Amino acid sequence: MKVSILASSSSGNTTYIETGKHKVLVDAGFSGKKIKELLASVNRNIEDLDSIFITHEHSDHIKGLGVLMRRYNLNVYANSGTWDAILGKSSMGKIPTDKIKILEPEQHLQLDDLDVNPFLVSHDAAEPQFYQFMENDKKICLLTDTGYVSDRLKDEIKGADAYLLEFNHDLEMLREGPYSWDLKQRILSDTGHLSNDSGGQTLVDIVDRHTKKVFLGHLSPENNTKAVAYEAALETCERAEPEVASDFEILKTDPTTAQPLFTV
Ligand SMILES: [Zn+2]
Ligand SMILES: [Zn+2]
Repeated sequence: MKVSILASSSSGNTTYIETGKHKVLVDAGFSGKKIKELLASVNRNIEDLDSIFITHEHSDHIKGLGVLMRRYNLNVYANSGTWDAILGKSSMGKIPTDKIKILEPEQHLQLDDLDVNPFLVSHDAAEPQFYQFMENDKKICLLTDTGYVSDRLKDEIKGADAYLLEFNHDLEMLREGPYSWDLKQRILSDTGHLSNDSGGQTLVDIVDRHTKKVFLGHLSPENNTKAVAYEAALETCERAEPEVASDFEILKTDPTTAQPLFTV
């Protein structure tokens, strides 16, 4: 399985995953043009995509969805709560209904050589769900846009080969930053976003000897920096168990530039 985190931040998200038989995106939080450019930057052609998996209806995840569905004949998977929310948005335009695919939480999907396991997260959207993708015995798990990670979910996603994990904000920067009190409360709540501290704790709890790469994702441009998130991740790992930290790479993501394709 090959993967590129094409772009990730609270302003826009899209990830590319390919197996022998499938080329898919997870989320489409940019214009069609920008997604095409991001794919081209890792030598992939947008015309070759066959499916998109949508996590939830926030615009940083679906901004380009309508355009991509109309232009590229893609199957789009999301759960029924998310589809209801998406189809209720006037900004979506006309959507080819035969391409709407329902994939409910915990419903295992096998697309030839690509296995998909969707799971619910705790976030202020209709029915937010993220995904684990597997080819053969290799697994990548994506988890952002959640205010809280239960022990049950940690058990379920433990020991993937690679993760995209939310490090949304530094608590200090958020508290002292420009956001309104309401928005700060929303982000800090159990249905908001993971801070660097809670992202770090989640990381420590889910990695094991299989884990090779952890990408820090969905950073808030206002309330975090790559360096601060990276430092927090490193410190949490070192504090938890020194030998754990040396076994996998901690990697940054960028709001507008694709990470190189890697093999999971
Ligand atoms: Zn988001
Ligand atoms: Zn969201």
